[in-house]
Amino acid sequence: MPQPTLEQYEIWFVTGSQNLYGEETLRQVAEQSQEVVAGLDGLPVRVVWKPVLKDTESIRRLALEVNARDDVIGVIAWMHTFSPAKMWITGLDALAKPLLHLHTQANVELPWEDIDFDFMNLNQAAHGDREFGYIQSRMAIPRKTVVGHVSNPAVVARIDSWQRACAGWAAVRTLKLARFGDNMRQVAVTEGDKTEAEIRLGVQVNTWSVNELVDAVEAATDDQVDALIEDYLASYEVAEELLPDGDRHQSLRDAAAIEVGLRSFLEGGGFHAFTDSFEDLGGLKQLPGLAVQRLMAEGYGFGAEGDWKTAILVRVANVMGAGLPGGASLMEDYTYDLVPGEECILGAHMLEVSPSLSTTKARLEIHPLGIGGKEDPVRLVFTADPGPALVVAMSDMRERFRLVANVVENVEAPDLPQLPVGRAVWKPAPDFATSAECWLTAGAAHHTVMTTAVGIEVFRDFAEIAQIELLEIDEDTTARGFRDQVRWNKAYYRLAQGL
Ligand code: MN
Repeated sequence: MPQPTLEQYEIWFVTGSQNLYGEETLRQVAEQSQEVVAGLDGLPVRVVWKPVLKDTESIRRLALEVNARDDVIGVIAWMHTFSPAKMWITGLDALAKPLLHLHTQANVELPWEDIDFDFMNLNQAAHGDREFGYIQSRMAIPRKTVVGHVSNPAVVARIDSWQRACAGWAAVRTLKLARFGDNMRQVAVTEGDKTEAEIRLGVQVNTWSVNELVDAVEAATDDQVDALIEDYLASYEVAEELLPDGDRHQSLRDAAAIEVGLRSFLEGGGFHAFTDSFEDLGGLKQLPGLAVQRLMAEGYGFGAEGDWKTAILVRVANVMGAGLPGGASLMEDYTYDLVPGEECILGAHMLEVSPSLSTTKARLEIHPLGIGGKEDPVRLVFTADPGPALVVAMSDMRERFRLVANVVENVEAPDLPQLPVGRAVWKPAPDFATSAECWLTAGAAHHTVMTTAVGIEVFRDFAEIAQIELLEIDEDTTARGFRDQVRWNKAYYRLAQGL
């Protein structure tokens, strides 16, 4: 699978008006709305201007056209003039794609000296958009509202985040996820309602016998394995024992065969996410480590121990971060440094952390693994780059899914000579104790996606589009306020879903 890209997508820009104003004004509306679109240059998804909408039927037609086109992943709407909002009811009711309400105007400064009522009639988004806001709120239409002139980089940045969330939504609506084996025995938080996931998100979560994967691994040819070995030697600092003349080179070839098999299985089935389980490895010689790490770095979603919910998040984060520096990975909160004032979290997994979190050349090593009862697995060893990051978890709260996100800062890690895995060390916002108290209060999982490519606004927009609860832990969070929010959300989400 090539790296995720947003190039194939479009966002349609629609301008609302009405026939009241006469041709000359409508000509100016069309012209100026095209200038607004031109001002949205530099966004990750192309914005396409559509002719000005002036009546109920054309608005409804446009919504149906958007729905029918897989490449159109969202709509930006702006009421340059006054567009009586009853005209929008059937269209908004039909629209099944994400919506952004851009509250802008053509001009930045008011030409105070020259203003006449023609100017006022043309440039009246200040009340046209209020009419539009009313009907969206009355109809409870999920949307993002962005305010300001398009020459303001902050405005464009907010649209950028939303476009990425639209792409994440488009990806999840068509996502096929393959599980090899079931959930880790007895574990609660990695369980969940797969039917509900398909209803809410569109993702298809299904299970295959691990021995079907073993068949694909056994079908790997020497040429395919050789090609991957070349790739490994070029990409990583390879431990001597794994080199072609090293004692344990065969283990690297076994790991390469697993990668060939996994990739062919995923490509053959059109899967963009997967899970495995160390309790169910069938005829696999090693727990997949290197292969999983590399596939995540290519854009696949992955969750360990059957954790399909985290696999969805890793895939979504990979798509939303397309083209940006950094990456997304399965992460697991493992252990703490509790030195007062210096508290931090050491996160890792047995093997499966994506090297896209690091810009340093990873080391390719082999070490024993006490779990899974298989041969020693090959893995990439590195530390995530210092810098801003986000961890997000998904829990199944019985009648709904809950996302919890924590804004964190990855920091420099001391040497970890006895811990040969991919890992990250981070300080959570607003501080360690508040973060952990809130995380536990929310019932958020030990598995997360860690992304260093996108920030919390992208996930906030994704949650709004998906209509999924998102609890945010950031620099403004207090434990008391968070606890109240969790309590109110319980009532809100029950009511909002109706009977
Ligand atoms: Mn785990």
